[in-house]
Amino acid sequence: MRIVLLGSPGAGKGTQAKVISKKFDIPHISTGDILRNEIKRGSGLGKEAAGFVESGKLVPDRIIIEIIKNEISPDKSKNGFLMDGFPRNLEQARMFSDLLDELGIELDKVININVSKDEIVDRLSKRKSCSVCKSVFSIGNNKDLEKCPECNGDLIVREDDKKEVIKHRLDVYESETRPLIDFYADKGLLVNIDGSGEETEITRRILKVL
Ligand code: AMP
Repeated sequence: MRIVLLGSPGAGKGTQAKVISKKFDIPHISTGDILRNEIKRGSGLGKEAAGFVESGKLVPDRIIIEIIKNEISPDKSKNGFLMDGFPRNLEQARMFSDLLDELGIELDKVININVSKDEIVDRLSKRKSCSVCKSVFSIGNNKDLEKCPECNGDLIVREDDKKEVIKHRLDVYESETRPLIDFYADKGLLVNIDGSGEETEITRRILKVL
């Protein structure tokens, strides 16, 4: 199963990706998580990407494509993969199509998770994520929650979930990423999913179309 998850920041891609990748036993490839790990490790790639990630800008395509080439090598993803946060613009989508052609493989589905802009802003300003297992939590009024309920790792507010950066990320989504909806609809791969409501209900909607 080869799946791409599309949706605005805060649409719930990461949360849904965890469940779906487990269900189909395929790797969850989150370019955002990979970049944050590289930044944390202080690697060359991390140093190059840090300024972009922290200010909510897209990391240059050549860096992202290198990451993807490495992640979808035949030994790592023989059962398929689930892309979360990639591709992020038309150039990446075209390069990805070329790469898949070279490997002789095709995407099965592109799932677009739709959530209203008001709900997105509300969710992003309330979320914390686990620095260890990467689970994302809506903290609501529980702002003092510091440990991950799943693995007891430290919960953090991502640098780019701070208010000034959220607006910029949403603008980048509108101008750069939203055009991918038409790109994949034209290829006959797109399925729209209502991303409002309970997480388990959204998972059920996605599984129904896979
Ligand atoms: P995410 O966790 O998917 O919201 O990504 C967090 C940040 O990582 C983004 O705001 C970008 O700075 C960077 N990033 C993640 N994926 C990509 C990508 N495919 N292309 C460019 N930048 C990316």
